[in-house]
Amino acid sequence: MKHIRNFCIIAHIDHGKSTLADRLLDHTGSVTEREKQDQLLDNMDLERERGITIKSHAIQMEYVHKGETYILNLIDTPGHVDFSYEVSRSIAACEGALLIVDAAQSIQAQTISNLYLALENDLEIIPVLNKIDLPSANPEEVTDDIVDLLGCDPEEVIPASGKTGLGVDKILEAIIEKIPPPKGNPEEPLQAMIFDSVYNPFRGIEVIFRVVNGEITKGQKIKFMATGKEYYADEIGTLKLSQVPKNVIKTGDVGYLISGIKEAREVKVGDTITDAKTPTKNMIAGFENVKPMVFAGIYPVDTEDYEELRASMEKLQLNDASLVFTPESSAALGFGFRCGFLGMLHMEIIQERLEREFDMTVITTVPNVSYLAYSKKEPDTPIIVNNPSDLPDPSSMDRVEEPYIKATIITKSDFVGPVMSLCIDKRGQITNQTYLTPERVELNFDIPLAEIVFDFYDRLKTVSKGYASFDYSPIGMRASKLVKVDILLNAQSVDALSALIHADNAYNIGKKMCEKLKELIPRQQFDIPIQAAIGAKIISRETIKALRKDVTAKCYGGDISRKRKLLEKQKKGKKRMRQVGNVEIPQQAFMAVLKLN
Ligand code: GDP
Ligand code: MG
Repeated sequence: MKHIRNFCIIAHIDHGKSTLADRLLDHTGSVTEREKQDQLLDNMDLERERGITIKSHAIQMEYVHKGETYILNLIDTPGHVDFSYEVSRSIAACEGALLIVDAAQSIQAQTISNLYLALENDLEIIPVLNKIDLPSANPEEVTDDIVDLLGCDPEEVIPASGKTGLGVDKILEAIIEKIPPPKGNPEEPLQAMIFDSVYNPFRGIEVIFRVVNGEITKGQKIKFMATGKEYYADEIGTLKLSQVPKNVIKTGDVGYLISGIKEAREVKVGDTITDAKTPTKNMIAGFENVKPMVFAGIYPVDTEDYEELRASMEKLQLNDASLVFTPESSAALGFGFRCGFLGMLHMEIIQERLEREFDMTVITTVPNVSYLAYSKKEPDTPIIVNNPSDLPDPSSMDRVEEPYIKATIITKSDFVGPVMSLCIDKRGQITNQTYLTPERVELNFDIPLAEIVFDFYDRLKTVSKGYASFDYSPIGMRASKLVKVDILLNAQSVDALSALIHADNAYNIGKKMCEKLKELIPRQQFDIPIQAAIGAKIISRETIKALRKDVTAKCYGGDISRKRKLLEKQKKGKKRMRQVGNVEIPQQAFMAVLKLN
C-alpha cells in the first residue's frame, strides 16, 4: 500500500487533461511505440472526433523513484458539465489530484467546481500550469491566479506542457512525494467502490473499482450493496493499456472485475462491492442514482423500424446506464420512446451513437426538463411531467414547479454587463459577484434549468466573445408559470411539435416557432397554414405558399441523368422527413424551438 498512489486529473475542458495523461503514460513506459496515438485514453470514436472525454478512464503505470517502484493509478475524467457525475465518482476514488490550468486561459468555471469536489474529498492538490509552450501563455499572471485560488506557494505550481513533455518528470515526483498512499485496513471485510463501468460486447460489463478495505480475490462470491445482487468474481485484474488478470487486488488498489453481468443498470457507479458471506456493514457514502435532466422523444424515421430502435436503445443502455427511456406514442410520429438525458450534449451523443453504431435514422423531438404539476384535487401529490402531453389541463391545475440550478460563470470584467443581461433575460437572479482578480469576475445566478439546457451556452459564448466559462449544479424545484404551446399545421395539431414554455415567453416563442417552421418546411402542392396555440387560443400564424411547379420541370428537355440526380437528391432530402397528415416535416422542424433567436 505504501507504494500505491491513486490520483486523478481535473481541469476545465480543453485545458489538456487527456494530452498530459498521454505524456505520463509515455514517460513511465506504459505504452509501446506501436500503441502510441494521441489521446490514448479517449478510446470511443466519438470521443476522438469531438476531442472530448465522455467516460472516465483508469490506467495503471509503474514508476521508479529513488530506487523504489511505485504503482500509479491514473483516473482520467470527463470535463463537460453533462458528465460531472462521473467526475465526482472518480475523485472519490483518489487521494490526490493534478489540477491542470491552461496558461493562456487561466482558471475557468470547471477548474473551480472540480477543485471544490476534490477539496470536499480531502484530496491533495498538485497545481500544474499547462501549455506554457503557447505563445499566448501568461505564466506569471496565471501562476498568481492559481496561488490566489489555492493559497499555495508559487514554487508549488509546476510549469508543464503536454505538447513538449516539459515538466512531466516534476509532476511524477510530486505525485509520489505529495500525494499520500491509500489508507484502509486489509483485515476488514471487502469494501470496494465502483467508479466506472465499461460495456464489452463479448465479456459483458466490466466494473472498475477501487478497494477501500479488505481485498478481492479471483472466484470470490461478492455482493453489490445498492442492488443486492450477488456474483462471482470470475476475473479480476489491473488496468494497463490492456487488462492484466490477477488473483488478488489488494487494499488501496484499483482494478477491473468481470462477472458475466449483462446489463449496465445492474452496475451503479458509486455502489459498494463487498463479500457475500461476510459483508461490510458500511456502504461507501455518497452513492446516488444519476438523474436525467432533459427529456425528449426519439422516433424512428420509418415507423417500421420501431422494434429495431427498441433493440438498439436497449443495447446502448447496456453501455450507458445514464440513458433512460420508456415507450410513448405520438399521433404525429407513431411509436417511439421518451428518453431522459444528462444534458443536451448527452442527447446529441445518444442520437449520434444510434445512427453510427446501430445504423438507425431517428427523429428527436423538442426537449424539455422535468416539471412537477399539482392538481387542485390533490394539491400534495406531484404529477411528473416529462412530456408536454403529460401537463394537466390548466383549469384543473393548482400549480407547477420547475427545476432550478445554481450557475457559476467566470468572465472578464468587460463582459459582466452583457452576461448579466443574458442571465436576467433567461429569468435568472444574481446571487453573488466576486472579483477573483481585477480583470476576472465570478458571477453566481439562480436560473431555471429549462433556460440553460437549450441555447444558453452558445449565447454566453457570443456575448462574452468566448471569454466566459460556465458550470452548474441543481438546487431544487421552484414555482413556475408554465403553458403548453401547440403547433397546428393545416389546422391539425401536431403533438410532436408541442413545447412546454414559461407563460411570459409563450407569445414570443409561439410567433418565432411559426416563422422558423415556415423556413424549414418545404413548400408543397398546396398552402399550409402554420399556427401556434395555447389551449384553444391561436397566438400566431404564418402560411407556407403552395409550390407552383414540379421540381423536375426546370430540367425539361435537359439530359436525363441530371433529372435523375435531382430526383435522387430529393429522395435523400426526404430521408429524415415525416409525413404528418398530408404535410411533410423535416427533422430540423422538430427541433426548431432550439434554434430560435
Ligand atoms: P482535455 O479536454 O482537458 O482532455 O484537453 P485535451 O488534452 O483534449 O487538449 C485540448 C487541446 O489542447 C488539444 O487540441 C491539445 O492538442 C491541446 N493541448 C493540450 N496540451 C497542450 C500543451 O501543453 N500545449 C499546446 N500548445 N497545446 C496543448
Ligand atoms: Mg479529454
